[in-house]
Amino acid sequence: MGNGKKILVLGGSFGGLTAAMEIKRRLGNKAEVTIISKDDHFVFLPSLPWLVTGHRTGERLSLPLSRILPPRRIEFIRASVKGVDPAAQQVQTDQGAHGYDYLVIATGPHLACEEIRGLGPEQGFTHCVFSLENARQAKAAWEKLLADPGPVVLGSTQFASCFGPYYELAFELDYQLRRRKLRHKVPMVYLSSEPYPGHMGIDGVGRSRRFIEDEFAERDIKTVVNQSVAGIEANTIHLADGSTLPFKLAMLAPPFKGVGGVAELGNPRGFIPVDQHYRHPQHPNIYTVGVAASLAPREPTPVPTGVPKTGYMTVKMAQTAAAHLAAEIDNRPSPAGLAIDELTVICMLDMGNTATLMLADPILPPRQRTILHKKRWVRWAKAGLERYFLWKMRHGRSNLP
Ligand SMILES: Cc1cc2nc3c(=O)[nH]c(=O)nc-3n(C[C@H](O)[C@H](O)[C@H](O)COP(=O)(O)OP(=O)(O)OC[C@H]3O[C@@H](n4cnc5c(N)ncnc54)[C@H](O)[C@@H]3O)c2cc1C
Repeated sequence: MGNGKKILVLGGSFGGLTAAMEIKRRLGNKAEVTIISKDDHFVFLPSLPWLVTGHRTGERLSLPLSRILPPRRIEFIRASVKGVDPAAQQVQTDQGAHGYDYLVIATGPHLACEEIRGLGPEQGFTHCVFSLENARQAKAAWEKLLADPGPVVLGSTQFASCFGPYYELAFELDYQLRRRKLRHKVPMVYLSSEPYPGHMGIDGVGRSRRFIEDEFAERDIKTVVNQSVAGIEANTIHLADGSTLPFKLAMLAPPFKGVGGVAELGNPRGFIPVDQHYRHPQHPNIYTVGVAASLAPREPTPVPTGVPKTGYMTVKMAQTAAAHLAAEIDNRPSPAGLAIDELTVICMLDMGNTATLMLADPILPPRQRTILHKKRWVRWAKAGLERYFLWKMRHGRSNLP
């Protein structure tokens, strides 16, 4: 290693990889960039619902960090972060301590299954799709359901801040069941902490409320919204209002929190505050991008929901942070920032045999612009984006239009 500034990036996904590659691209030998991540692969998470239904394999969706990073002259350390000491400029991991001049945190969410009894694939009765392992377990459960059909519940618990994939799963599973002539044997419920269908943690996108209500009504998918989950036991979800939902297969997004080890730098739920350059207000050499960053809803919902931080937003945050960090090291004037609540959300919602393009600019209302456009080509575009993004990461490209 040379004499460049020491830049540690925590997390090897959309945020961490983009930030590391963009910093290296901008600074070359002036930066020694190291990624520390507990997982040794980048996984294209947006396609995990397709893994559940058997349309993708884990191999196709993942890239080994130890292979893609060295050619970019980015060091990779596989380790789990245990703490950050901003005064000593040091990160503690289960593999030892590492000093830094600048730190970029991109550790995503901690899925707080422990907050709801019986939740989650590890110690509970429900599935989710946040990792390859989760999705593979959900796939096995889906195949079991096909052999022995029964009620399905999909959706999100209180404090979840990722709704899109569970809408996608509702549409996709409905479509697959119909193809197999099994749909009449499977009552389907979309259960959510959102105050209304189509809210998505961002107070809807244009006419998304009516859109989702109509699309679900046409497909016979019942909605149970504005609900928190009190507890789950085998085949039964207990809601806070005392009602219950039976299930043979349930896939629910758990509550989100910040990841332990970095959460201490954040708010009570562990999400880290950022300025318009994604710097910590008290520690200007610490940047946070992606799901780990804090973004409060404009209006709190009756049952708590979180604002999603999508892949596209995460890439934009990482690029903005990298541009600022590089300018600072180069002693150049700071480039324009892009505050987290000014970001645009672009989402391609898979619906089985079609898809819907959703755009909200900015993410929270009131907005300059919204688009909601259901067209078959959106599904092809979604598959194209997967291929493009994996190609980009394989070849060390950090740009995104
Ligand atoms: C099923 C699914 C579908 C989605 N669909 C879309 C979509 O269609 N469009 C869209 O824009 N977005 C979508 N998203 C959201 C998108 O995937 C996220 O916005 C993005 O993954 C956030 O990136 P991140 O880098 O902040 O965090 P993550 O992707 O969560 O990555 C976190 C990284 O930190 C590492 N890490 C975690 N804890 C530690 C620790 N203690 N020590 C060291 N390393 C740690 C992990 O190994 C990982 O590398 C989807 C997400 C999911 C789960």
